[in-house]
Amino acid sequence: MSKEEDMKHITSSVKSCRKCSLWKTRKKPVVGEGSIDTDILFVGEAPGYNEDLQGRPFVGKAGKILDELLESIGLKRNDVYVANLLKCRPSDNRNPLKTEIDVCTEYLEKQIEIIQPKIIVPLGNFASSYIFEKFGLKYDKISNIHGKIFQINTVFGRLKIIPLYHPAVATYNPETKNILLEDFKAIKNAIEEIRK
Ligand code: URA
Ligand code: SF4
Repeated sequence: MSKEEDMKHITSSVKSCRKCSLWKTRKKPVVGEGSIDTDILFVGEAPGYNEDLQGRPFVGKAGKILDELLESIGLKRNDVYVANLLKCRPSDNRNPLKTEIDVCTEYLEKQIEIIQPKIIVPLGNFASSYIFEKFGLKYDKISNIHGKIFQINTVFGRLKIIPLYHPAVATYNPETKNILLEDFKAIKNAIEEIRK
């Protein structure tokens, strides 16, 4: 099967998924979007109000900030792939439950297998701790590790993991936006390094 077919298969599985109770309240699941031939995968937390309506990742306020951040290093949405830990919206925007993460990340894992990224950028605490654990790294709180590059070897080659604050935080805390702008330079450096 081609990468496109594999990704379509995930999309149809997610659309009919009832593995946790979030299917009951979702309007549309959000599988992910972008280039499947990219080296760079962003992992958010879960769809919010607007994402749930549209079935697309990061289309609300946090998405506007993500676009600005990408643009600050010369990237567009289509240069990267953007997915989330959970594919359906927790109705009151509450934190994801461990049980939901445990059952839903089967889809994210498959997306990682298909894309085989060289750089993964988890956004916020939940995505970062999941990605760290998945790749056998010891997780420390996001305030200690944001913007640092963690390099590991995987079955699909060398991988850089760059955990960042969640862009939603920057919608109410302007200082976080400055930190994110600074941390995005680490992504730019990592891209330059893999292109060498
Ligand atoms: N926040 C997320 O973590 N993901 C989205 O898709 C939108 C907002
Ligand atoms: Fe299935 Fe994930 Fe949606 Fe739960 S959040 S119903 S596991 S796709």
